[in-house]
Amino acid sequence: MTKHVLVLGAGPTGLVAAMLLAAEGLRVTVLDRDPGPPDGDGEAAWRDWRRPGVGQFRHSHCVLPGGTSLLAAELPGAVDRILALGGRPHHNMIAGAWDRAATGPRQPGDARFETIAMRRPLLDAALLAQARQTPGVTVRHGVQVAGLLTGKARSAAPPHVTGVLTQDGERWAADLVVDAGGRNSPVAGMLAGIGAEPEEYRVGTGFRYYTRYFRSPDGALPRQAPWPLCHHDSVSVLSVPGDRGTWGVSLVTSGRDQELRALADADAWHRALSLYPWFAHLGEGEPVTGVTAIGGTDSRRRRLVVDGRPLVTGIVQIGDAWGTVDPQFGTGITMGWRHAAALRDVLRLAGSADPLRQSLLLDKFAEENLTPVWEGFAAWDRNRLAEIDAEIQGGVRTTDDADWNLQIALGSARWKDPEILRGLADVGCLLAGPQEALVKPGLAERAVELAAGEPRYAEPGPSRGELLTAVHGT
Ligand SMILES: Cc1cc2nc3c(=O)[nH]c(=O)nc-3n(C[C@H](O)[C@H](O)[C@H](O)COP(=O)(O)OP(=O)(O)OC[C@H]3O[C@@H](n4cnc5c(N)ncnc54)[C@H](O)[C@@H]3O)c2cc1C
Repeated sequence: MTKHVLVLGAGPTGLVAAMLLAAEGLRVTVLDRDPGPPDGDGEAAWRDWRRPGVGQFRHSHCVLPGGTSLLAAELPGAVDRILALGGRPHHNMIAGAWDRAATGPRQPGDARFETIAMRRPLLDAALLAQARQTPGVTVRHGVQVAGLLTGKARSAAPPHVTGVLTQDGERWAADLVVDAGGRNSPVAGMLAGIGAEPEEYRVGTGFRYYTRYFRSPDGALPRQAPWPLCHHDSVSVLSVPGDRGTWGVSLVTSGRDQELRALADADAWHRALSLYPWFAHLGEGEPVTGVTAIGGTDSRRRRLVVDGRPLVTGIVQIGDAWGTVDPQFGTGITMGWRHAAALRDVLRLAGSADPLRQSLLLDKFAEENLTPVWEGFAAWDRNRLAEIDAEIQGGVRTTDDADWNLQIALGSARWKDPEILRGLADVGCLLAGPQEALVKPGLAERAVELAAGEPRYAEPGPSRGELLTAVHGT
């Protein structure tokens, strides 16, 4: 059995992996370049925790119900910590749809769409507090991993990683190194340096997020939008609830949309938000932040197994270090936790004597369970970016891509059909895959029929021209 595991990165993936592996009797050391959180509750973490290693730390974050239920099943103590720090339980992702005549009222099964509302710093602080209390886990902050240690490889065997080297010249030996270093993990470059460059898949230039957080004076949350993420001409609007009467609103554009870069200005951002009737009231709270913008959110994934052979052993990549998906769907943390749980299962099966098998089994899990989700979002991104490109050029994109056209029809039909709405919610909350939730006799035909004659995006909002006029104040 693998005895000492080094986890690079104390983000949600690394911390959950550490706790799950320690529960198997392993000794786990987590190294993170960032400082740890300040003492105190979730508010202190939001206010005072500097986290340069996680660029999206103060952007809209929501843990999907699929992730919350995984955490509750695997690490109930972590859920207790989240609640103790101020996480708001029983937030239902589809509550905004309950008062709409065609899709409401609440159904008994809707409890599955519940999650805990919190801002991202609260989540990381809670996981860290729980990890620190977990026997077998040690977390070291302010330690930057700068290189990989390798052992002598047998001829014809791939290179084998035996530990890491830190910026300060410390050497940490490990039976297994887990790269949970996030979207900017430096490990891919380090692997290239030892002749094991991962195979990489990437999509386009991604999207750009313009986020502002708000707070209510009395701790209550404002009326929920009928759906947390709605797509419109050139912009998607996303709202997520937080802890302590806070909520975030993001306007999401194509990374290539230069004319909408003006959304970084708070006045322009508010003028734009006021054009989306389902979300406009969410801009009326007390601002907690200015508008923060983040780009470079390309979807990317890496593989360390090519043609059935590991490129390297003794190291695995999980969470965002393995792959990033379009953040607007809020799936990253849940996927990272699934990956962490799969790593635990792989070590149970493969033990330590067979690092090749560890690599192969974890790659098999990712290919069967995570890659299809990644591919689905990658296809969505390509279509959406092409659609926005056409709008920037003054046109409207049409395509004969049947999957994309069906997705558009389902999105429109959900407002007329409670079963379609809940099927989409199951997929969106990572409670079920599209095959399970949406491939049902007659459902696609019904969606196409219901969507006939409706605009491409049924949710109310401005045209690109109206949006640009508002944003540029002309
Ligand atoms: C704008 C935006 C919004 C998002 N919204 C959501 C959402 O609503 N829901 C959701 O589930 N996901 C969301 N995501 C995705 C989510 O943020 C990521 O999936 C999540 O952070 C991945 O966790 P992780 O632990 O794998 O990596 P990270 O959280 O990135 O953590 C990696 C850690 O590794 C450390 N590290 C990196 N390099 C080194 C090194 N050399 N040495 C030591 N330590 C190192 C970093 O300091 C960091 O602490 C969003 C992403 C973006 C960009």
